[in-house]
Amino acid sequence: MSRQERIIKTSIIGIAVNLILVAFKAFVGIMTNSIAITMDAVNNLTDALSSIITIIGAKLAHRPPNKSHPYGYGRIEYFSSIVIAEIILLAGITALMESWPKIFTPDVTNYDTVSLAIVTVAIVVKLALGYYVKHVGEDINSQALIASGSDALFDSVLSLSTLAAALISIFFHISLEGILGVIIAIVIIKASIDMIRETIDSVIGSRADSELSTKIKASINEFPEVYGAYDLDLHNYGPEEIQGSVHIEIDDSLTALDIQNLTRRISMKIYAEFSVKLTVGIYAINNRFSDIRNDVYEIASGYEEIIEIHAFIVYEAEKLITFDLIVDFDADREEVKSKMLKEITRKHPEFKYCIIDDYDVSD
Ligand SMILES: [Zn+2]
Repeated sequence: MSRQERIIKTSIIGIAVNLILVAFKAFVGIMTNSIAITMDAVNNLTDALSSIITIIGAKLAHRPPNKSHPYGYGRIEYFSSIVIAEIILLAGITALMESWPKIFTPDVTNYDTVSLAIVTVAIVVKLALGYYVKHVGEDINSQALIASGSDALFDSVLSLSTLAAALISIFFHISLEGILGVIIAIVIIKASIDMIRETIDSVIGSRADSELSTKIKASINEFPEVYGAYDLDLHNYGPEEIQGSVHIEIDDSLTALDIQNLTRRISMKIYAEFSVKLTVGIYAINNRFSDIRNDVYEIASGYEEIIEIHAFIVYEAEKLITFDLIVDFDADREEVKSKMLKEITRKHPEFKYCIIDDYDVSD
């Protein structure tokens, strides 16, 4: 089953389970004339909404690329996750507003066996649904499903607190419903804000997953012709579409044909292993001036702000040396560069130097 099919199947299960709960609770609510149970039925109806939004998001995101959107529509999934997270935020705020007054003026509740049984069944069903949906979401990296599953889990925890408060009030005649409700509401609000922030990070563009970038670099370094892999840039257009670029250091004696063959093999290997579309650029390395290169590396090792140097190259005819420098984002790049430049010029004054700015974009 494809990722999209799994998202839709899981969401349909979510809708079905919620609708069964709605029918069940509405029937019992009307039969026992309990407003609380009838209201709970209405709440379950809105829970089906997050599953519907997940399906719509998955359908829209899965449209194939075209001329106006050549990278596809995968990022639409981020919007559906944000909408669901906002529904959870709203539910959290509502729970907070409802629970807060109950701390001071507890409801006079009169629980009967029937309503306790209904609450218990609903908790078990929602817990199972929440775990299932969240698990599938984590399995296929769908933030919308994770949010939708969390929504069900929060609902069951809220119901569980109602049940616990009911039992405590039956046996000990004290009402904890308000305090429990406030605590859980705050947890829900915090979780929904975290979800919104995490999804917005994906939209803004965040640092590539450390495990993925490290593995890609290691995989490229397996080619014997590659001295090193640098500047790995990864961009995502939704959870399923990652594109990027990388630079490799290779011997300057390789021909254009050798290089084309090598970079093609690298791109194919990375796509086969990680489904990442990678463009490979090159840095030519020669070892005739390795003494100067060693001096540059030696000087750089004296600066803890310097993360990496690569692409050291000597243009003999122009008496020019260039290399790429990655400085910590928090450090003063220009200051580090001018200090380094001073030191290396003192040591090898016969050359001009050009330090090229690179950024610490991936691990
Ligand atoms: Zn570079």
